[in-house]
Amino acid sequence: MTASSEQKLLWIDGAYVAAKSGEFFDTVNPATGELLAQVSKAGEADIDAAVAAARAALGPWKAMSGVERGRILHRLSQLLREHRDELARLEMLDGGKPIAETPEADVDSGADCLEYFAGQASSIQGEYQEVDGGFFYTRPEPLGVVGAIGAWNYPLQIACWKSAPALAAGNTVVFKPSELTPLSALRLAELAKEAGLPDGVLNIVQGFGDAGQALSHHAGIDKISLTGGADTGKKVMADAASTLKTVSLELGGKSPLVIFDDADLDNAVSGALLANFFTQGEICTNGTRVFVHESVREAFLEKLVARVEKLKIGNPADADTDVGPMISPEHGQIVLDYIEAGKSGGAKLVIGGEQVAVDGCDHGVFIQPTVFDACTDDMKIVNEEIFGPVMSVLSFTDEAEVIERANNTEFGLAAGVFTRDLERAHRVIGELEAGICWINHYNITPIEMPFGGIKGSGIGKENSRRALEHYVRIKSVFVARGAIDAPY
Ligand code: NDP
Repeated sequence: MTASSEQKLLWIDGAYVAAKSGEFFDTVNPATGELLAQVSKAGEADIDAAVAAARAALGPWKAMSGVERGRILHRLSQLLREHRDELARLEMLDGGKPIAETPEADVDSGADCLEYFAGQASSIQGEYQEVDGGFFYTRPEPLGVVGAIGAWNYPLQIACWKSAPALAAGNTVVFKPSELTPLSALRLAELAKEAGLPDGVLNIVQGFGDAGQALSHHAGIDKISLTGGADTGKKVMADAASTLKTVSLELGGKSPLVIFDDADLDNAVSGALLANFFTQGEICTNGTRVFVHESVREAFLEKLVARVEKLKIGNPADADTDVGPMISPEHGQIVLDYIEAGKSGGAKLVIGGEQVAVDGCDHGVFIQPTVFDACTDDMKIVNEEIFGPVMSVLSFTDEAEVIERANNTEFGLAAGVFTRDLERAHRVIGELEAGICWINHYNITPIEMPFGGIKGSGIGKENSRRALEHYVRIKSVFVARGAIDAPY
């Protein structure tokens, strides 16, 4: 991606096509502001075309055996691995993510997902039971055309996490990436074609919220899967209701990380760093409310600060950069406003809290990893999702108290507990209202483990065999074995 004049089109029916309106929008490097490409902007007519292509491709795709579908997905996972460096660089350029992160967190994660669901494709099974003088069986059938809408923080990973289980189960897909990070999904579609995916099975439409809305409303789409903010989730669900589509929603969070007095503090600090500063804090599951037992709070903070000081803010293209720019200047300003709210709201700034300049990256808003101590439950920074490198440390003394405070949020995405007392660990996890939990770790998301929030953080699961349940419908078939005893 060098030519600033490069144009990227929509990917419909296995080929690039320009949006009917002829309109384009820019996608830029969040660090440097360099124009990466002008991207064709889909309108309703283009969404119609993509849905029609997906509908036409559905019959032959779902008629394939699971083994055949899995073979193609497996080839695609191999192609992702072969193009690891290229894709990692693309994610860095388009999303501002440090190049130290993207090979593993983005490309490998996407490839793992494709590989996992390649294996699952041939093992989607129904049930059988003898009942009432006959038997029944169930047929798990694909839903049809899936509309998928992605956020900007993990563009390639999200495209894979949504399309792999959908395709494995025999659905076809129309995917809309965030307009801030449109490029990697197009490359995924190209590689999918190279892997042998039939035309029309995976379509990429580019655009803004209105393009996502057109998908949610569309009568030709059978299911919507969104990764995005909670407000967007509510709108998508309301729009999907007009045609009674099922929805999977991966939304935001304000997750608690609870550190007990018997925790291995070095591990707890590692967990808190992973829970707050990876991808410069732009991660939905982040444990941004760090509850630390009062008796170890000082020691925890001392160790934490010593390690935060070492984080290197810089150009995401540099191999030693830990913290890159915010996705956009607008989002950067939102994060800076939260930091001001923390300062003026009475939280104690322990480290960070400033925007910094990075050579050659004038466009980027780079924000120091920031830790606030002496936070209270009523503070704005403690209650609202910031989606930036801002950690709030809260003190507690009692297990029941911290559980109640940890649950005192509209969200329920993730939670973490650090303690050496495993009985307590499981007891506390049992009480926490969160869909994804970690004991003595944070933010690790193996493909085999179900991933998804509860409460205001979403509906449904991604990854694991559970994800497949959201991409099939069950048809029940009763089979009679003898004469019918009719009352008439
Ligand atoms: P948004 O909710 O702003 O956007 C998400 C996607 O929805 C984008 O593609 C967006 O398009 C599209 N969209 C916007 N409005 C509508 C609408 N009315 N109907 C349909 N689609 C619409 O989220 P962000 O992209 O800003 O991502 C950050 C949010 O995503 C955070 O809240 C974060 O917590 C959450 N998230 C959740 C994850 C999870 O797995 N639980 C993982 C990653 C992020 P466009 O961008 O073009 O406006």
